[in-house]
Amino acid sequence: MKAPPERTCVGCGRKSPQSELLRFGSVDGRLTVGRTIPGRGVYTCRRLVCFERAVASRGFSRVLRRTVLVEPELARHYTDS
Ligand SMILES: [Zn+2]
Repeated sequence: MKAPPERTCVGCGRKSPQSELLRFGSVDGRLTVGRTIPGRGVYTCRRLVCFERAVASRGFSRVLRRTVLVEPELARHYTDS
């Protein structure tokens, strides 16, 4: 059996199975949640702290290789606080 694909959380740097992470892409320069957004993707754990760290370190823009607007309301996609 093939191991599930792993991706690195841009917040904490840990690797997890892709299915356990939130994927974001850039839509018109805005960070947007979605597994089917074309182009580069960036992943975080489902922990709010990872989102906040990624925002603070500008990790989303770094991984996507373009400046993206990160709206604070994206925090609603995280299950804990
Ligand atoms: Zn994380």
